[in-house]
Amino acid sequence: MRKIGNLEIEQIAKLAQNDVYQQLGTSSNGLDRAEVQKRQEKYGKNILAKEKKTPLLITFLQNFTSLMAVLLWVAGGISFIAGLTELGIAIWSVNLINGLFSFWQEYQASKATAALNEMLAESSSVLREGKQQDVPAEQLVPGDIVNLAEGADIPADIRLLSSNGLRVDQSTLTGEVDPINKNADPFTGQTDTVSELKNFIFSGTSIIKGNATGVVVKIGMKTSFGQIASLTQNVQSELSPLQKELNVLTKQISLLAISIGALFFLAAVFLVHYPLIKSFIFALGMIVAFIPEGLLPTVTLSLAGAVSRMAQKNALVKKLSSVESLGSASVICSDKTGTLTQNQMTVLHLWTPLRSYHVTGQGYAPHGSIYDGPHQRSVKNDPELAELLAGGLLADNAKIEEPNDKHSGYACIGDPTEGCLEVAAQKGGFNSAAERKQHPRQKEFPFDSDRKMMTVVIEKGQERAFDSYTKGAPDNVLAKCSTYFSAGKSLPLTDSKKAEINAANDGYAKQGLRVLAVAGKILPKDTKASNLEEDQVESELTFLGLTAMYDPPRPEVKKAAAECRKAKIKVIMVTGDNGLTAETIAKRIGIVDRKKNVKVITGAELNKMNDNALKDALRGEIVFARMAPEQKYRVVDNLQQMKQIVAVTGDGVNDAPALKKADIGVAMGKTGTDVAKEAADMVLTDDNFASIVAAIKEGRGVYSNIRKFLLYILNSNLPEAIPSALFLLSGGKIPLALTVMEILFIDLGTDMAPALGLGRQATEKEVMNQPPRSTKEHLINKTVLLKAFTWYGALAALLSTVGFFLNNAFNGHYYPALPTAGWDYRQATTLALGAVIFCQMATVLNCRFDTETLFTKQNFFSNSLVYTGIILEGLLLLALCYVPFLQEIFGTARLLLSDWVFLFCLPLPLILLDELRKYLVRKNS
Ligand code: ATP
Repeated sequence: MRKIGNLEIEQIAKLAQNDVYQQLGTSSNGLDRAEVQKRQEKYGKNILAKEKKTPLLITFLQNFTSLMAVLLWVAGGISFIAGLTELGIAIWSVNLINGLFSFWQEYQASKATAALNEMLAESSSVLREGKQQDVPAEQLVPGDIVNLAEGADIPADIRLLSSNGLRVDQSTLTGEVDPINKNADPFTGQTDTVSELKNFIFSGTSIIKGNATGVVVKIGMKTSFGQIASLTQNVQSELSPLQKELNVLTKQISLLAISIGALFFLAAVFLVHYPLIKSFIFALGMIVAFIPEGLLPTVTLSLAGAVSRMAQKNALVKKLSSVESLGSASVICSDKTGTLTQNQMTVLHLWTPLRSYHVTGQGYAPHGSIYDGPHQRSVKNDPELAELLAGGLLADNAKIEEPNDKHSGYACIGDPTEGCLEVAAQKGGFNSAAERKQHPRQKEFPFDSDRKMMTVVIEKGQERAFDSYTKGAPDNVLAKCSTYFSAGKSLPLTDSKKAEINAANDGYAKQGLRVLAVAGKILPKDTKASNLEEDQVESELTFLGLTAMYDPPRPEVKKAAAECRKAKIKVIMVTGDNGLTAETIAKRIGIVDRKKNVKVITGAELNKMNDNALKDALRGEIVFARMAPEQKYRVVDNLQQMKQIVAVTGDGVNDAPALKKADIGVAMGKTGTDVAKEAADMVLTDDNFASIVAAIKEGRGVYSNIRKFLLYILNSNLPEAIPSALFLLSGGKIPLALTVMEILFIDLGTDMAPALGLGRQATEKEVMNQPPRSTKEHLINKTVLLKAFTWYGALAALLSTVGFFLNNAFNGHYYPALPTAGWDYRQATTLALGAVIFCQMATVLNCRFDTETLFTKQNFFSNSLVYTGIILEGLLLLALCYVPFLQEIFGTARLLLSDWVFLFCLPLPLILLDELRKYLVRKNS
């Protein structure tokens, strides 16, 4: 194959199909493996050049140049100049460790999102060596034959070989928003712009309607899109509201810290008459200790961690901010088929105007028979059954595969609603392959969720009674029928016959079955299929019968629905299926309350309702049926007006507006179109409703963990500040129980490691027993402040002050004659420091669970990172007490045995006290 330029694109557009193959060195069977490999080596990957990433070194340095970091560099520098080398080293160490820590966390977070990008990569259905297979779109090469369905993103520049009702959105390329009709006819004439070529579809654009087969001509940066765009659609990395809030919060706390520092400075100068430089250093310690340096990266990592955990639970989140929206979701609008149910169809009943049948056998294995009461029926002796089953089979794009090395049983490749019709046809006596071969398809009017039907025009031959077969939702198909088929004849469809058909339909729907109607049409002789329009074929139809199929609910869904109920998350089924079917399934899986009056609103009824009536209905138990995807948008919009945070599922092209409008658009990974996946915030790899609930739980969990983390960070501020306040307020009579260096040590040594563990705390069961969080609620609320300062912080401050006086007493010093320097003073401050650290150990355990008790095997042992942090804290304290070099730097001293006894007595009562608080909270709620 030669290199192809723009001029040659026009020439390829002019070629007939066989010449296209020849020009591109391929065939109707596609390329063989060796050729694919050769071309991959020659042309490279089918990818667009990625956005230039910030070099790692720059990202690394950015962590040391933020406003806070600069402040600390300057503060450390001043300490050096003032001759306080140890303090300078300590402040710079705080800065350095924070920077490294932040960089590490950001790096981990970006690794998690990069992994996600790979999971979201698109795949293409390609024909190679005569076999249809799915390959990652980046592996396509020129000459590949690809199949593209409605909603697909076009992965390369492709010359069409065949198409059915194809309409393409080329707006990314041309700015033109109206979809363009495309077809495979060779191009005649001339054009300046390749995008005008009707038989070419281009990378970066998408199929809005219809389907097509084509041959890849250009890939990657050589495509028209590649030439204008240099960015790929990536996981977006903008800051989430939570991250923004934290950014502001960090600044506010820093400002507060600086104000407190200034106040302490003035007090030191005027109340204690400290020299200026000493006062400055004193205030500096306070400021450094109060600034929550590592907060933002820790939160980013927590969110990224949640994203990774969600991915393991089959929910791929595209933006960190979606994690938060998920946490506050109050309504889920869910499709039925495939999301709440398994999308594993088995035809259980058939109905023709002459009789009704039941079908035996399960799954996609063609083992089973069709009975009319006790009599087995076959297509050979039942013309009505034969036409019904033939219609279903010939208007079916799925394929049933026998057991092979990929699947142990029979499997349906394609839409199960269609596949099960082939199985039923085989049970009725058809050889599906032979029947399809005998009546090749001439034209297809593909299924779409608005028409709710699809039609095929076939070669009728001698055996079949009709030239075209239509299958779809019974109400829609019946509306297009004027006759029905009985005893080999088409008879007028009277109102009473219609009522009979509707009654049969309702009977099946009430059992929760999905019902499809099949109809046929005899077209005028010598009709050219390619000239036929949809309206011509889908009118004046002859009704053939009904097929009723069973689609079992997903086993996990019942539990997930119950969880939603407890968590005050409303689940609304929004389905294209029949109202009775939808209601039965909704009741069966428990997303509506059986005892309450359930309102079923159909798409047609919704159109007649005004917004107020809709809002009223949305407040009760409700199911939407026979909805067109576009109508979902209105439901989402109204729910949002009611201040609800809405998650909505979707898979088709027409679902995209609702997916975009929703707070969390959820696309189906297996059955969803590329267009839906792009519009969504989250993609479910297993299409399962239960995965949405798992993601919500994770979203709630991460928020509560961040709160725990904040609570822990904040609470140590009080014991750090109280000794200085006592010192200042007593005019220096009460010596400083914690020195500046010791405060910095707490900030560095004890705030970080255990706090990191809190960010990884497993989600508490309790989070799903509470109503959704209001989006207006701030991370730091009254409860957090009260708990941090008047509970955990106050207790630690009290105990550390007690420790200070106690050690003095052990050494025979009593107020007001307390030492302010020397070994005894150092020992007393060391005990005060030890007391803060031991209280922190208890506090981190107390913070792990909001209301649950720590004392279950599961809860106690579930977070090894927290325990590692605690051990690290203990080791650091030991080092400070016993390593002479560190004693010198931090002004610490060896502790007495009685000091250690005091320290070891601290955690347990603190934990028990908090257990009592949790118990009371649990009891009262
Ligand atoms: P949900 O919206 O919950 O996924 P659904 O699959 O029923 O449910 P649609 O895909 O919009 O929603 O289908 C609407 C209706 O169209 C179905 O209830 C069915 O009657 C009919 N239908 C679905 N698939 C096909 C098909 N492949 N061919 C013909 N008719 C179909």
